[in-house]
Amino acid sequence: MTDKNLKRGRIFGFVAIALFVTACSTIPQLTVHQSISTLLTAKVLDNWVQAQIDAQLPLSTQIEQSSVSIPARFQGKTLYKVEPNNKEKVIALTIDDGPWPKTTLQMLDIFKANNIKATFFWVGSAVQANPELAKRVVAEGHVIGNHTWHHWYKRMDEATAKSEIDRTSNLIYKTTGVKTTLFRPPGGFLNNGLAAYAKSQKYSVVMWSLTSADTDPHAKPQAFVNNVLKGAKPGAIVLMHDGGGDRHRTVQALPQIITGLKQQGYRFVTIPELLEKSGE
Ligand SMILES: [Zn+2]
Repeated sequence: MTDKNLKRGRIFGFVAIALFVTACSTIPQLTVHQSISTLLTAKVLDNWVQAQIDAQLPLSTQIEQSSVSIPARFQGKTLYKVEPNNKEKVIALTIDDGPWPKTTLQMLDIFKANNIKATFFWVGSAVQANPELAKRVVAEGHVIGNHTWHHWYKRMDEATAKSEIDRTSNLIYKTTGVKTTLFRPPGGFLNNGLAAYAKSQKYSVVMWSLTSADTDPHAKPQAFVNNVLKGAKPGAIVLMHDGGGDRHRTVQALPQIITGLKQQGYRFVTIPELLEKSGE
């Protein structure tokens, strides 16, 4: 072992223990699950440890920063996709408007069978209505983003925008222990006051580069499959829905979407993992 590797190994050990102790003593159990599964992903942590060595920060600072899973360059920014280093074939599935009875569970089963983690953007009122579903999504290792309380499109003043976002984040935390740093504006509207407030609070505003168009009331599931498979690109963020209406067609399309993307050579990542894949 070289000196550098030895140093890295020691810091890695310290950080892993410190993370565990900190998480167990101060954060509800489910956060431990998500923090550990997200942060201890070997490569991510390895990169992160290296970054701390490079920055020569004291250990206490390192631990605080470890709870922030979004790289600083994406905080308070709007993004549609990511350019992964070396055009790596990674893609992120994002699921909006839940948690929702039946369809969320069906999607969870499909993801589990395929060993895929997705990113769910939740509506606060839906979390309030379906807390057990919310807990299960988090327990299964998926990443959670904020999609406001009421899913309003209208223009709103700052106090209303603050309430829409803070109330949702607070309930997500109270229900699942997750502190989310991702925000997606309902309908993708960026100019009604919500995105501005989210950015002021350092959320990453996550749009999408590829839609399954699964809110089209007349399309067949095969159309959703074709939309995704034809538009797939490295670093794409794919939009689909588990809630806000009857999404059984999305559930029907999902296995074929996954199989088709795998055949094209894609690997599925969460939004935080995708952001780690991008250079400056
Ligand atoms: Zn939505």
